[in-house]
Amino acid sequence: MDEFIAQGNDEHLSILHRTTPGWIEVIAGSMFSGKSEELIRRLRRAKIARQRVQVFKPVVDNRYSLDHIVSHSEMRHESGVVETAAEILAQVEEATDVVGIDEGQFFDNELVSVANQLARRGLRVIIAGLDQDYTGRPFEPMPQLLAVAEYITKTHAICVRCGQPANYSQRIVNVEGQVVVGAGDSYEARCRRCFVPHADAPTQYIDNVG
Ligand code: ADP
Ligand code: ZN
Repeated sequence: MDEFIAQGNDEHLSILHRTTPGWIEVIAGSMFSGKSEELIRRLRRAKIARQRVQVFKPVVDNRYSLDHIVSHSEMRHESGVVETAAEILAQVEEATDVVGIDEGQFFDNELVSVANQLARRGLRVIIAGLDQDYTGRPFEPMPQLLAVAEYITKTHAICVRCGQPANYSQRIVNVEGQVVVGAGDSYEARCRRCFVPHADAPTQYIDNVG
């Protein structure tokens, strides 16, 4: 089979038959970078090609809808809600070809094993998620998923301060804790230069990177 690189373009992927080995695709980036839009785009195309699609999101992400994944630009796709990665495995049906998972960073580490098991069964697994938390630290289990994925797409937002590609999610409210689910009023997209780690965050980590 010819080798190809999927860089946000999955033209080739859906033509492969289910009997071929499955694989894992990860869409990772900051908030507002279009992860959910890209996930929904891929899922819609698979459905047009009459593939059977199942979508899951973690229960923590109930901002806009309980039974849909919703992008900041109001794109939406129906989804199931699960509490753990193991529930995904239990709910995937025999005939399913494609499994989409949004907000991968809110799942437990078992998501890595679940994704591997589904891919081994021959399914196409597409996982979108934040690769860093609001302090700039890698957000588990996304780093592990990036390591095992066949295809990785890094998405970028636009820095609201300077217009450069944004790789960071700046928390703009004074709340602690890694998980503060919020929309545009709690976070904004920033580039490396404009990103200011939260006052109580270990800024050293950012300084040490690169
Ligand atoms: P993510 O899943 O990565 O958080 P979404 O797919 O939900 O991203 O939303 C992407 C949309 O967010 C863009 O199409 C745009 O409408 C909106 N948006 C808001 N702020 C920004 C920004 N700073 N840069 C780019 N898009 C932004
Ligand atoms: Zn900037």
